[in-house]
Amino acid sequence: MAKAANPTTASAMTTPAQIERLGGYLHKLRLQKCAERLEALLQQAAADELPYADFLEQVLGEEVAAKTAKNVSMRTAMARFPFVKPLETFDFAYQPSIDKRQVMTLASCHFIEHGDNVIVLGPPGVGKTHLGVSLGIKAIEAGYRVLFTSAAQLIATLTKALAEGRLDEKLKFYTTPRLLIIDEIGYLPFDRQGANLFFQLISRRYERGPMILTSNQSFGAWGEVFGDRVIATAILDRLLHHAVTLNIRGNSYRLKEKLKAGLVRSIDEQPQPGGEI
Ligand code: ADP
Ligand code: MG
Repeated sequence: MAKAANPTTASAMTTPAQIERLGGYLHKLRLQKCAERLEALLQQAAADELPYADFLEQVLGEEVAAKTAKNVSMRTAMARFPFVKPLETFDFAYQPSIDKRQVMTLASCHFIEHGDNVIVLGPPGVGKTHLGVSLGIKAIEAGYRVLFTSAAQLIATLTKALAEGRLDEKLKFYTTPRLLIIDEIGYLPFDRQGANLFFQLISRRYERGPMILTSNQSFGAWGEVFGDRVIATAILDRLLHHAVTLNIRGNSYRLKEKLKAGLVRSIDEQPQPGGEI
């Protein structure tokens, strides 16, 4: 029986048969990363005369890190983001109307625990979708299930489900994820049925499932978006009951390079709407 030279360290004298047995155990326990790294870690531990507890911590730590990364990437794929951009890629200096501290507080995901909604308003290109995606990624990293959809896609799916007698099932699909992100409210007006379906979803998630919503229209214009002032008021009433609103005022990030090159003028410099942009 091989014995450690130092009783507090892992042994360098493992036999090939033992390695094979250990590999078998690790596979059985589905500790894939451990199985892959076992030999190298054992050798390193022996060379460094690593105490047993440190060795165990290292092996299990690597397994947990690998499992967490796999889980995050699986849930990121399930979230159906249009692009994957972490919050660290957001340039706050470009958009001073955004309170960075407020966004960082949201990134801690307490709003999800409290069941609060986040509503991001602003003109096209100012980073609404980017912020929605970035906060969604933070939520996934914090262990939540997230689903991203555009408002148009959501209504089309619910309308189809209604026609096929599967509305309840689809509403469940949108209420199950802990965080639902609905992007681009207001780009296309809803028809009456669409507004009704949207209302049903909001009612189901009300005070249970937090949402992030983005819109290029101010709340005052939502009556036109939903084609019905009464429904819009009922929707806003529920959404805003527990909500944080980020109002972005500024230039489109898409125009950043053009602005830099002086090809267009910034919003503040424009004498009147409908100018050169
Ligand atoms: P919106 O949804 O408001 O129309 P997007 O979030 O789609 O705008 O932003 C347009 C593009 O510009 C995206 O590629 C986005 O990643 C990028 N973008 C917008 N604002 C920023 C920012 N402040 N920092 C970095 N990239 C940004
Ligand atoms: Mg967008």
